[in-house]
Amino acid sequence: MNKHDFELEDLVERIKKNDHRLVALQVPEGLKMQALEMMDSIEDESSAKVILAADPCYGACDLVHDKMKMMGVELVAHMGHSQMNIDSGMPTHFIPVTYEGDPEIDPVLPILIQHKEIAEKRLSVVGQEVDLTNEEAMEKFVDAVGRIAPLTGTKLGLVGSIQHLHLLFDYKKKLENAGFEVEIPVGGARLTFPGQVLGCNYSGDDPEIGHYLFLGSGDFHPIGLVMHTGKPLALLDPYTGEASEMSFNRIERILRQRMGLIFAVDNARSFGILIGEKPGQMRRNLAIRMKNMLKRHGKKGYLLALDHVGPDLIDFYPVDAFVNTACPRIAIDDAVKYAKPLITPFELEVSLGEKSWENGYQFDEIP
Ligand code: SF4
Repeated sequence: MNKHDFELEDLVERIKKNDHRLVALQVPEGLKMQALEMMDSIEDESSAKVILAADPCYGACDLVHDKMKMMGVELVAHMGHSQMNIDSGMPTHFIPVTYEGDPEIDPVLPILIQHKEIAEKRLSVVGQEVDLTNEEAMEKFVDAVGRIAPLTGTKLGLVGSIQHLHLLFDYKKKLENAGFEVEIPVGGARLTFPGQVLGCNYSGDDPEIGHYLFLGSGDFHPIGLVMHTGKPLALLDPYTGEASEMSFNRIERILRQRMGLIFAVDNARSFGILIGEKPGQMRRNLAIRMKNMLKRHGKKGYLLALDHVGPDLIDFYPVDAFVNTACPRIAIDDAVKYAKPLITPFELEVSLGEKSWENGYQFDEIP
């Protein structure tokens, strides 16, 4: 933790310059233990009072907004995530958090060499697609390798979580010196920095990239990256220096579970359609499209808007299943916590026959 840099100076400058008196501080879950120390430091160096927005916060999709405005807050200081293509209606100062650990690349090189070979094999069979039986199409649905758009290259895509992104250009050079052709992918408007990935957005993926290296810890981003791209992924953890890979077996297990849920909603007549109220999760149009689609298929959809989504908040509704249009990871990562099937919009489209199995699994991305 002591290698983290919280970079509060610019925030204090902004508070002083605008003579703000009441500021809300929003920090990610992993840094909540340090929040009181940060509040002391801001209050000691400025004349502002600081309110901690103490509800859980997992991304910049979740900027505090109208409730803080009602309390008289003049500025929101949001830590650890970068600005998205959303407007919360509150002036917001984003505080970067960087981590200085820079692990050796040697432990990850053998994994990258193997993954490059997988990418080369896949590239050599591009265009050899044959007609598939229904069973083969379903197998392809859960086959994490080879279910994406055809490859045009075998480059190594270098990505990371936000606190390690400042290291990427240095690592690009190191990996190039080790013989890899490296690309730091640049994504769409939801992403701020080259090489950035979010749990709901991997839009920098490019057919030229045949395999990936993720600089970061935990499996949240890696699971989404492999579900989205189907490409081999090596992991290098700056906190421990350890190298590993995201196993295809693990992704296949998740995809089989998704397939089970699609079958489970086959006879469902009524669905709760969840709409996230957080500014960066709100997909009202998608929810309404799902409701209309259900109606066309003779089924009923009820629109339910929530700030937080959890089993206690929805399980009791007398519907057969739920479709989630809030944070896409709720359906993927938390499905087992819910008593009724909780599926993504794409999965509903497959279950209703609007999309076909053989095109492979489509990760639910917020653009
Ligand atoms: S994965 Fe979910 S919590 Fe994370 S940024 Fe996306 S919508 Fe927000």
